[in-house]
Amino acid sequence: MHPERKVLVAGNWKMHHTHLEAIRLVQTLGFALERMDLRHVEVSAHPPFTSIRSVQTVVDGDDLPISLGAQTCHFEDLGAFTGEVSPVMLAKLGVRYVITGHSERRAMCGETDEIVQAKLKAVYRNHMVPVLCVGESGAERARGLTEERLSEQLGSALAVLNAEQIASLVVAYEPIWAIGTGENASLKDAEEAASFIRSVVAGNAGAAAAGSVRVLYGGSATDENAAELLGGDDVDGLLVGGASLDPDRFARIVERAVEAVKERGSASS
Ligand code: PEP
Repeated sequence: MHPERKVLVAGNWKMHHTHLEAIRLVQTLGFALERMDLRHVEVSAHPPFTSIRSVQTVVDGDDLPISLGAQTCHFEDLGAFTGEVSPVMLAKLGVRYVITGHSERRAMCGETDEIVQAKLKAVYRNHMVPVLCVGESGAERARGLTEERLSEQLGSALAVLNAEQIASLVVAYEPIWAIGTGENASLKDAEEAASFIRSVVAGNAGAAAAGSVRVLYGGSATDENAAELLGGDDVDGLLVGGASLDPDRFARIVERAVEAVKERGSASS
């Protein structure tokens, strides 16, 4: 991890927790976070839509060090889109980060690179920050197509963003074979992918943007492997699914991130 990029540990709750369970989770998490030095580590929670308002009330009421996140949004600001949620509505609730192009949505909801482009624009238009998910399938990895897949997904996304937007973007490298499988990428794989992502950003938007874009790793990250995954130069945080559902476990992941920042500080001083 880089000394000047703020680490982000993001919890993607997926379709878990009623709003009452979400309130309990975020209270316990907030209590655990309060004793940590979070000057260089940011924590975000991405509940289902039905829980965002409840989580926001607890975070604001108790002044918890948690940024509010969403798991997706529609690409239009308003209109006849039954069942959808507008980015305007999320921004109004104080949402800061919106996961965009998660592989589950690409696979199950037909989200194409074109739809992801439109969503990225919608998130920025509403002054929020996308957490853009990119990653190869197991079959693509076996055929040596990881970089090709990352270039395609990232190139398509970057094509619709300006340099300022790209500089503030969060990209999550999420190899599909690692999501929810218990099989995480090695530090070497994650660092190689993160460094490649940075080189694609440099090619599209210049070295300064590549130096400031934050690259997370996601895919079976846990409190047991977080220290290792955060041990390199290019991975700036973690997108955590399953292990973010338990507040104590998620807090331990954040603790590992705080320790990694400290180690980095003492190594560079
Ligand atoms: C995810 O879906 O973004 C994810 C990383 O899930 P898990 O941590 O459960 O693999």
